[in-house]
Amino acid sequence: MSHHPLHLGVDEVSELNHQLSGKSAENIIEWAHGYFDHHMVVTSSFGDATLAHLAWGVSPLIEVVLLDTQFLFPETIAFAHELRQRVGGVLTVVQPEGIAPDVELWKLDTDACCAVRKVAPLERLLEGRHAWMTGLRRDDSQSRANTQVIALDPFRDVVKVNPIAAWSNTDFAAYKARHGLPDNPLTAKGYASIGCWPCTRPVEPGADPRSGRWAGQDKTECGLHEPRVSRVTVSTR
Ligand code: SF4
Repeated sequence: MSHHPLHLGVDEVSELNHQLSGKSAENIIEWAHGYFDHHMVVTSSFGDATLAHLAWGVSPLIEVVLLDTQFLFPETIAFAHELRQRVGGVLTVVQPEGIAPDVELWKLDTDACCAVRKVAPLERLLEGRHAWMTGLRRDDSQSRANTQVIALDPFRDVVKVNPIAAWSNTDFAAYKARHGLPDNPLTAKGYASIGCWPCTRPVEPGADPRSGRWAGQDKTECGLHEPRVSRVTVSTR
């Protein structure tokens, strides 16, 4: 099997993590953009402006994607477009296929709903790409505490680039303040982590920010980052 130059192996990933550790988020994004170019896509849920601002600051040609489940808050969609206008950059809005916009599958089965409205569109998006950049941070939650800057996503056969993995909540707030970034308007209403409106609740000040997602359910992730149903392509590499 030929080794595509943009496919990284386990040893290369570990070497890259070594090289990139301690580098700024901007440096990491510059490296990733230089290396993967248009074979990389960035996803942002636009709960905040940080990742899109960082990516477009490095190059407005970096494609930032909003996965529009069709149950996002209208404020979030407007926020994404306003930020694109303000900063300037490529914004793509991706919607689900194979389900009518108004089908409330979340009332019956949130995993199935996330699978068709978020995970399948992401996987279509990543087909033919080699890298996927996200805003995951170790400080987000316990389940993200081991996030590496560069990782292999064996489920999608792409390299995952997490340029702000090492940022603390303080670093995150400092970047926002330094650049005068606007908040998603829902932040002021107590929403700490913002997803779809049926599955997001405001949280009390000081509570775990992600506790407002799928509140009351044994669910903490939508399946983008922790696939529940694997679509494994067996790789011989
Ligand atoms: S977060 Fe809720 S509404 Fe959004 S895709 Fe998942 S189950 Fe559906």
